[in-house]
Amino acid sequence: MKQTFDIEPWNVVTRKFDPEDKRLQESMTSLGNGNMGLRGFFEEDYSGDTLPGIYLGGVWFPDKTRVGWWKNGYPAYFGKVINAVNFIKVNAVINGEKLDLAKDQVSDFKLDLDMQHALLTRTFTVTKGAAKLAFTFERFVSAAQKELAVIRVSVKNVGDQAVKLELNSSLDADVQNEDANYDERFWDVLNIDGTSDQGEVVTKTKPNNFGTPQFTVGMQMTNKSTLPTVENGVQTATEVTNEFGGELAAGETAQLEKRVIVVTSRDYDDQIALTAGMHDLTADVNKQSFDDLYQAHTAVWADRWTKSDVSIEGDVGAQQGIRFNLFQLFSTYYGEDSRLNIGPKGFTGEKYGGATYWDTEAFAVPVYLGVTDQKVTRNLLMYRYQQLDGAYHNAKMQGLKGALFPMVTFDGIESHNEWEITFEEIHRNGDIAFAIYNYTRYTGDKSYVLHEGSKVLTEISRFWADRVHFSKRNQQYMIHGVTGPDEYENNVDNNWYTNYLAQWTLKYTLQVLQEVDAKQAADLAVSDEEKKQWQDIVDKMYLPHDDKLGIFVQHDGFLDKDIEPVSAIPADQLPINQHWSWDKILRSPYIKQGDVLQGVWDFIDDFTPAQKKANFDFYEPLTVHESSLSAAIHSILAADLHYEDKAVEMYERTSRLDLDNYNNDTVDGLHITSMTGSWLAIVQGFAGMRVRNDELHFAPFLPKKWTSYQFRQLFRGRLIEVHVDANGTNVKLISGDPLTVSVNDKEVNL
Ligand code: BGC
Repeated sequence: MKQTFDIEPWNVVTRKFDPEDKRLQESMTSLGNGNMGLRGFFEEDYSGDTLPGIYLGGVWFPDKTRVGWWKNGYPAYFGKVINAVNFIKVNAVINGEKLDLAKDQVSDFKLDLDMQHALLTRTFTVTKGAAKLAFTFERFVSAAQKELAVIRVSVKNVGDQAVKLELNSSLDADVQNEDANYDERFWDVLNIDGTSDQGEVVTKTKPNNFGTPQFTVGMQMTNKSTLPTVENGVQTATEVTNEFGGELAAGETAQLEKRVIVVTSRDYDDQIALTAGMHDLTADVNKQSFDDLYQAHTAVWADRWTKSDVSIEGDVGAQQGIRFNLFQLFSTYYGEDSRLNIGPKGFTGEKYGGATYWDTEAFAVPVYLGVTDQKVTRNLLMYRYQQLDGAYHNAKMQGLKGALFPMVTFDGIESHNEWEITFEEIHRNGDIAFAIYNYTRYTGDKSYVLHEGSKVLTEISRFWADRVHFSKRNQQYMIHGVTGPDEYENNVDNNWYTNYLAQWTLKYTLQVLQEVDAKQAADLAVSDEEKKQWQDIVDKMYLPHDDKLGIFVQHDGFLDKDIEPVSAIPADQLPINQHWSWDKILRSPYIKQGDVLQGVWDFIDDFTPAQKKANFDFYEPLTVHESSLSAAIHSILAADLHYEDKAVEMYERTSRLDLDNYNNDTVDGLHITSMTGSWLAIVQGFAGMRVRNDELHFAPFLPKKWTSYQFRQLFRGRLIEVHVDANGTNVKLISGDPLTVSVNDKEVNL
């Protein structure tokens, strides 16, 4: 655990510049607008260790899958996000020498991420020979204009002598990925051009052998400076620079404002249209002042916070934690584009390749439902609908019918190459079905489930019906050879969670089929025979259970393991994934993240308190929580069982995971999808929020350390505010029609 940032309610601030923590600081100060985003690396060149990264939503590259022995069905490529043209670059030259914080004498350093306004500010004073200059860099990625990023640099001469200062602003296409093989480059430059105060670069991803699309990206910068132009558009084959420079008298301030428009072939038919679109957008933003652009951006953020803010009294660390998590989630995704999704690291690092995982449906959907307008979540559902073709392909690759949604993807086609994940972690198909139910239950909006959703459900059901087999010996349906959410077990038979979700999906699909209109029914063309088969699977699905322990059994054979709690593992062997061989992990009884308990959480109202208690008491002590997704659902279940201390302990693991670098891996990027955990733990856990029969229910408790907490939640066109303190719970209607909610089983009219 390492806390390098100060604890403030709305800001993430550090006054230390420690080159050792540079990557950590970069991850923590990432910015994004759903369409694009970047790590908090410096504008100017930095000769020390750094992980520069600018990522564009939906722009990726296929890498050849490398495995020892190729087996039929393996995905041909491994998709990854690529570092885009560096558009933030601004170098400062002081009396002929380049500013470089790895070498220069720096004082008064401050890095400040203002989460309320989504603005990153860096200030410092540099002394270089006789020159002493105070720098301020401000940057935002516009939430109001998805193609726009703005940077402003101010330099004040705080010394007593005049200084020769140059500010050189560039677009630089000579970029690499950290995970690149050898010296691999991903971009070809198609066009590069510059004038005295503008520059543009059009690049295209290199051709690939897999038939996946190449992306063309256009970037145009406009630079305005109080310093005169030195030279018109300085160009190399990969970089265009606008150079400004002059003498700065003692006490004088110089400024450079840089605006960049970024467009991609995802939005334009060809290079001509893309270039024209880029020029139009540039002309448009250049009619506006910095303040206009900034205000439009902050107005969007103000609206987001009005709908979602959580305030916690009595624990500033927790307060900062929840805001940081919501801030980074909204920076990653706010539902504007149904072709985009939420990568486990968002726009903050290369790991997980920027691809979409089941994390979205399992963990992000329940949060977005509560904190954004319903269309935001609907777009997450549309994403899967639009990728049905890829899901058919994946099922076909396994020799199966219907649709198998991918574990890891950009376009619907599986792009991950570990067989135990790609082939086996098929529970994701059930999670995607469950998200449709979750959306419909929460919003009351049936327009998705009765149209696109019914198609998705039908094709997933067709997959399940083909993937199960009938055990003649047991006269039951089974699913063999799977991996559950607990990836510390592979190739198991009858994972309870997978079997339960498969059965549930078939049941739910049959129910939805009764409600679709005649046209949709005709399109889906589910035959009576199919329906009969699905019902038979529902009736005869095998769900491993141990009557003596009163628990659902994670999978066949699980109870024959050498079952000892995690507390029996010597502390110096934890985390086991860093100390044990993979073989030892697989043989052990230790659970990476909730598996049976993931299902108990999903269907929390379907189990009795005794069932929930027996399963929690059995499985939680075996769980090492080595996925950051794990803690939150355990917090919710613990709260449900009134294990309040456990609920708080689990909450604390999720809330400040990155702020405190809890897992010692935040250098690679932020754990975006597990950032959903703190909201889930507060709202579903501490406040006990559930949706039952079209009504919101609460059963709150107040964590001992806190004086009060308050959150806002959207529900069916209303915005409500729930306040919990020592005196009890108060629910207020902020906007929308009157509403009845239940608080501790009492109806409250708002
Ligand atoms: C987890 C998966 C998750 C992935 C991406 C893994 O460590 O076990 O459940 O989908 O990370 O977040």
